[in-house]
Amino acid sequence: MIKVLKGMKDRYFEDIRKYDYIIDSAKNVFSKYGFEKIITPIVEETELFERGVGEETDVVSKEMYTFLDKAGRSITMRPEGTAGVVRAYLQAGLYKSDPLVKWFYYGPMYRYEAPQKGRYREFHQVGVEAFGVRDPFADAEIIKMGCEFLETAGIKNLTVEINSLGNSSSRQRYTAELKKFIEERLDKLCDNCKTRYKKNPLRVLDCKSEACQEQYKNAPVLKDYLDEESSTYYEELKKYLELLEVNYVENYRLVRGLDYYSDTVFEIKSENLGAQSTVLAGGRYDKLLEILGDIQMPGIGFAAGTERIALLMDESLLKEEEKPVYVVYFPETKEYALNIIKILRENGIKVDFDYGMKSFKSQMKKAGKLNSKYVIILGEDEKNENKAVLKNFDTGEQEKLEIEKVIERVNGDV
Ligand code: ATP
Ligand code: MG
Repeated sequence: MIKVLKGMKDRYFEDIRKYDYIIDSAKNVFSKYGFEKIITPIVEETELFERGVGEETDVVSKEMYTFLDKAGRSITMRPEGTAGVVRAYLQAGLYKSDPLVKWFYYGPMYRYEAPQKGRYREFHQVGVEAFGVRDPFADAEIIKMGCEFLETAGIKNLTVEINSLGNSSSRQRYTAELKKFIEERLDKLCDNCKTRYKKNPLRVLDCKSEACQEQYKNAPVLKDYLDEESSTYYEELKKYLELLEVNYVENYRLVRGLDYYSDTVFEIKSENLGAQSTVLAGGRYDKLLEILGDIQMPGIGFAAGTERIALLMDESLLKEEEKPVYVVYFPETKEYALNIIKILRENGIKVDFDYGMKSFKSQMKKAGKLNSKYVIILGEDEKNENKAVLKNFDTGEQEKLEIEKVIERVNGDV
């Protein structure tokens, strides 16, 4: 038998109810903040991600699903959402007229990673991007919106971590120091860090090896290298977060290892996720639009993984599905039943029944299994009198009624 690919999953029943709940929460919260939905294609030119995510990153260097299309173009299944949304913004030329655009998106992402709990090869993200604004108040609002989204989706005990990467001159002074620090203890670091620190020293701080993290505990911190402008921006961010009542902690080692990130970076974490503790991650990327489109335009965004949210969510929030009214009929009343079912549905009633000619007993059993509150029995007498027997499964009471009365009774009950 052919099975689903490694690291991917069919999703139905409970998984879908959770996913829909997460997406509904996102839509409700984001629209309150004036964000509109955008849909971009799942595949893009490979170069978009090479430039927009960065060739140095694990995502681009190791994790991409890349292939040639029939015309020999290199195509990649998106590993993240920001690059495509930025491309759409640039392509539409929106920066010319009214540059402030606030978008949210959701959908599948693809990364060729080692699958484990909370880490898959096909996973889903909900994300937001805001273009055309550089103001710490916007950053604070977006962090607040991320918290509100996760809270609405039923997640508790989250920690918001923030940091500032400063502007590029602050970062340059810092990375020079960091490089020196790394070189002094190179023999104690993992192979990955030994090479990546040369091209992108910041990135080593994000290493998942505990031994490396032990070393980085005493590394110089970016905060001490922020210039006047950057530290004012950061102080204002904190002020606005307090104003918006966002509880945060400062994590001086929090980085996004890409050059185009600047100033604000943040992550929302949960203690209940084991190794995959980050649920939502984001930051300000004031250089990204320049890299992708030669346009100087600030931007900020975040992305959250829905599978990790689903692992954390409070399931009691999921609404009980409305149980269908179950219609039981007989071979002689099949056509009568079909007509009644049609009328019930026209009146907004959720109806289920069996297609096969099952016995009365097995139809009643199915109704019980579905946990239906009402069963409508359509026998020959009912057909002749143009009525129906309505049985309340909870109380056991049953009554023969006109169809209009049945509709009234069922609809009056919800
Ligand atoms: P990690 O450090 O966990 O690998 P990341 O830095 O690669 O995360 P981002 O690219 O910032 O993650 O993506 C944002 C969010 O998307 C993550 O916080 C997580 O919730 C989710 N995510 C990322 N990769 C995966 C994956 N392979 N499977 C499930 N969710 C994922
Ligand atoms: Mg990753």
